Amino acid sequence: MEAMADSGSLAHARVTVDLGALAANWRSLAAMAPGAETAAVVKADAYGIGVEPALRTLAAAGCRTFFVATPDEGITARKVLPETTLYILDGLPPGGAARLAEMQLRPVLGSRPEIEEWVAFRRNGGAGDAAIHVDTGMNRLGLSVADAAAIGAERGLRALIGPALLMSHLACADTPSHPLSPTQLRRFLDIRDAFPGVRSSLANSAGIQLGPEYHFDLTRPGIMLYGGRGDLAKPALRPVVTAEARVLLVRDVPHGEPVGYGATERVRRRSRLATVGIGYADGYHRGASSSDARRGAQIFVRGRIAPLVGRVSMDLVVIDVTDIPNVERGDFVELFGRHMPVDAVAERAGTISYELLTQLSRRAERRYVGG
Ligand SMILES: *Cc1c(COP(=O)(O)O)cnc(C)c1O
Repeated sequence: MEAMADSGSLAHARVTVDLGALAANWRSLAAMAPGAETAAVVKADAYGIGVEPALRTLAAAGCRTFFVATPDEGITARKVLPETTLYILDGLPPGGAARLAEMQLRPVLGSRPEIEEWVAFRRNGGAGDAAIHVDTGMNRLGLSVADAAAIGAERGLRALIGPALLMSHLACADTPSHPLSPTQLRRFLDIRDAFPGVRSSLANSAGIQLGPEYHFDLTRPGIMLYGGRGDLAKPALRPVVTAEARVLLVRDVPHGEPVGYGATERVRRRSRLATVGIGYADGYHRGASSSDARRGAQIFVRGRIAPLVGRVSMDLVVIDVTDIPNVERGDFVELFGRHMPVDAVAERAGTISYELLTQLSRRAERRYVGG
């Protein structure tokens, strides 16, 4: 039988992850903070791209410190990289100190009860390293500045904790002029004095862009490694994830016809529509839907931009290709990636690039390139 023109894959949707771009982005972020070590945040399956290839790629690029959110993610990461430094951002689960320490996973201690458990573990002869998280204004995770100062002032307690890192997290770094960032910086500088000799870390991706005073000893970029928030990055970073889907059919409809569930949008002219094999079950947000009242997201088709028409359904979307010649069944169109910045698509879907990336489902075919 004659082979089809393309690769012969049966996939309706495919996600291409450019590991070369991931490595390049890590190097660029490291170059932006030359005085600090550059770690990598690989929580949530490395923001959806696949934690194992991400860890191997980043380690090969020179990254030596990684952050995950949960103990399970830490266990997975430890199997991939037996030697590297791994922190658990969401802290110590009750009764978990010995098991984390056994695998050399470092909890980021963020509350009094976590500190007490960790101290009891070390006092009973347990060996392991941990970080201390101080809340400088986000009110999410972390010891209050007062609690952290009290711990810092007790040299014996400080020694029992044995903190390898003192960290805090910025709430508004992605709004460069937000006044909370300098306030958090000031509080962090103050609390750092209570922990002499302990390495410190404040900046996420956007925090790195705020300037050298935010870099301290270690930076913790996540989203920019994966090509998100490119609008804030100077110099520019490379897109890592490209999501594409196939045109399943093309049809012409008369002016005034409704499209999709709920008939939320009617075409305003005689139109050529393409039905594309991607939907919210693939992680293409229903919030990207279009209606008569609200413009939805756009899709990159044969070098042009096609608007969505009507609602995103579970497995399908419809786009208007009236002005784009030669769109055919079988064409792959780009949802986001090399030509459509993931942040712009996220904004039209009423969300953020972090959510689009982490919610890409495994139904789409995955390809890794540039590794
Ligand atoms: C997720 C996270 C990061 C990474 O943030 P990005 O905005 O993705 O760079 C850094 N630090 C902490 C504490 C986090 O939770």
